[in-house]
Amino acid sequence: MHARREAETDGASAVARARAERPEGRAAQVLALQRTAGNAVVVQMLGGSTGGHGIGGLVANTGAAQREAALSTKYGIRIGPPADRPNDHFSHSMLNRIDGILGSLPSQDVRDNPELRAIQPAGADTTSAASLYDGEDRSITMVSPFGMPSWLYTELNRGVPWQRSLMDKGAMADYDGISEAEDKALGIAGEKRQVMGGTSDVLANGNLVKWTLRHEIGHSVDRQAGWAVGLKHEPRFGGWEAYDDTHPVAVAILTEAGLGDQLDAEDRFHMTLGASVALALNPAMARGNPKRLTDLADNFPDQDQQFKDRLARVVQFGRLALAQPWTLTDGGGNTLAIGDRTYHVDHYGQWVSYLRAERERHAVSNYQFSTPEEWFAEAYAAYHDPKPEPRARLNPGAREWFEARGD
Ligand SMILES: [Zn+2]
Repeated sequence: MHARREAETDGASAVARARAERPEGRAAQVLALQRTAGNAVVVQMLGGSTGGHGIGGLVANTGAAQREAALSTKYGIRIGPPADRPNDHFSHSMLNRIDGILGSLPSQDVRDNPELRAIQPAGADTTSAASLYDGEDRSITMVSPFGMPSWLYTELNRGVPWQRSLMDKGAMADYDGISEAEDKALGIAGEKRQVMGGTSDVLANGNLVKWTLRHEIGHSVDRQAGWAVGLKHEPRFGGWEAYDDTHPVAVAILTEAGLGDQLDAEDRFHMTLGASVALALNPAMARGNPKRLTDLADNFPDQDQQFKDRLARVVQFGRLALAQPWTLTDGGGNTLAIGDRTYHVDHYGQWVSYLRAERERHAVSNYQFSTPEEWFAEAYAAYHDPKPEPRARLNPGAREWFEARGD
């Protein structure tokens, strides 16, 4: 789901694990849950899992293991626990969802997909707060958010605003850069932040677990098809760029701010403007030492007011880009636009950019325009949605690509 922090990349995986292990992340989730759903629901939910024991083991899970074996044969991948924890079975309600989704997808994406080996329930030692696809062992682990019991998780609906809002809050509790104080400083306090939604209620619809299963399988199809490696740059797929080095991003922002002809101006440490801004905008630096960015002008005491005004624009750009602006309805709007592209730091801590018009015209969710891998997973989930609206929303060129590969 949408606290979905997949292990598609090693870096992302490490970040997700580090976040999941933070006790305050869990506390924030429970608080978000209490605010949204009330204490009674929290008490009911805690202590559950994707497993089939229901509330306090009241509901038996008879026959789950046999059913997992039958479904594994039917779909040619392991469905159920790995060998090292053989007693962590799915619930029947989750197996119903898995059977329904796998049966609806082309066999090339399931049985004949070498990047998908297993769909397994989370174990007690799972550190991820959300379902994930792990590209290393080619498995999908289904995690119930908030430790919610399976019977409830499998019934959640994306079209019900409070349920979607609940899941969104759980996801956002773990993202860096979102705080009331910072939102106020940025002038975006009170603006709606959403993960699953953001486009229209018609698009954010249907059963949450079904969408999540399609989404996670989409990550494996991405690897199978080589999409992220070879195709993500194409305009019909969002026109994505991801930056390992912050320097070209700094130059683009400085140029936009009118300082492109002064990249060699030196700060008080004799660092060039380009290098100084690249350092301030480096996500690790900006998270660990935000003053390096917010007080950037202090490093250029000899420059005139026009220079400082333009530098203030750079600071504003950086601060909003670091505040998960993809959760906002406008994705950061004009503040984060350079030419036809929008820039931000994704929730894995990497600078990315995409074509602004693609988001405005073709986004199926805010999450789709968080980072390239999520673009594909959301597009895949939308393309295979039994309702026509999500598929119709995709760029026609993207739809043709799915059709051409036989989806
Ligand atoms: Zn994902």
